[in-house]
Amino acid sequence: MDKVYNFCAGPAMLPEAVMQQAQAEFCNWQDLGVSVMEVSHRGKEYIAMAAQAEQDLRDLLAIPDNYKVLFCQGGGRGQFAAAPLNLLGDKQSISYITTGQWSKSAVAEGEKHAKAHVFDAITQNEQGQFLVKPSQQWQIDQDAAYLHYCPNETIEGIAIDEIPEIGDMVLVADFSSTILSQPIDVSKFGVIYAGAQKNIGPSGLAIAIVREDLLGKAHPLTPNIFNYEILAGSDSMFNTPPTYSWYLAGLVFKWLKAQGGLSAMAQKNAAKAELLYSFIDGSDFYQNNVAPQNRSKMNVPFQLVNDQLDAAFLEESAAAGLLTLKGHRLVGGMRASIYNAMPIEGVQALVDFMADFAKRNS
Ligand code: PMP
Repeated sequence: MDKVYNFCAGPAMLPEAVMQQAQAEFCNWQDLGVSVMEVSHRGKEYIAMAAQAEQDLRDLLAIPDNYKVLFCQGGGRGQFAAAPLNLLGDKQSISYITTGQWSKSAVAEGEKHAKAHVFDAITQNEQGQFLVKPSQQWQIDQDAAYLHYCPNETIEGIAIDEIPEIGDMVLVADFSSTILSQPIDVSKFGVIYAGAQKNIGPSGLAIAIVREDLLGKAHPLTPNIFNYEILAGSDSMFNTPPTYSWYLAGLVFKWLKAQGGLSAMAQKNAAKAELLYSFIDGSDFYQNNVAPQNRSKMNVPFQLVNDQLDAAFLEESAAAGLLTLKGHRLVGGMRASIYNAMPIEGVQALVDFMADFAKRNS
């Protein structure tokens, strides 16, 4: 087998250079003679590394000073609960926009804490492709504590690239599968959160970027480890953080800076997505059912028009070193996740394989 490319939706591939650096210093970090995994999170070396990782993330996303950056545990789903617990205050409801499975899962968790006002923003265009209704048409509960949406639905490959226009309401967004793939105007959000295992680093870590004026409203029963104010006041070290994941995320942030930052990543990601979608659109063997303006640049679901060939496609693609292309069980078909770490050569290898498979099976 030539080179292997891993299209897993998450945990996803990490940049090769990052993995090599991690390997090189695995047993002897900073000449301490031990692994970064084996040192105290209260030690000066670890604290310096952790602070630098936060600063690099701040630089990459141009995070304004009035936002706290929290390194949390509990993944993306942990934040489905942490957001209502911390932000509801004396309000009774949360406004949710649903566009796929992950935003619906956020509702299921939020409903335990508040009245959920849900607006399904998915519609179809004349070609029958899935389309997100423009934010001006969203029905919003104006009395809600905040509005929650998911800018990139990992399973369906549906993205909302423009920041929704929702007036003065606090905007909370689950950026798990799109953070760091392009610049974000953080100042438009109350809270941005993301599980790490796609574009940040290994699983076990979630990042929350929280506007300071939203702190201090946590429900008294909020577990301390999920309390944004407590995490902010302890530099995310109220308890032992996921130290290895934090370290690896720090290496990823440095790698992103060396790539030219998020504008450069956005260009690379656009080129990768264009290569794959234009191939799919030009073929009558494959299809994608998302309207062009809502197509995710990170997760590209596609179907073989003849789904009898799915098993052969998966078997042969894996044998060719193109791993984990099976679509999510709720959607079926195929899905190629092409996060920051996927080089365009990997997407080209996939397109070449798809073209060859189509030729042999048409
Ligand atoms: N939100 C989105 C958009 C996701 O893609 C995922 C995981 N794939 C989650 C939330 C849940 O993340 P976790 O498994 O870290 O709880």
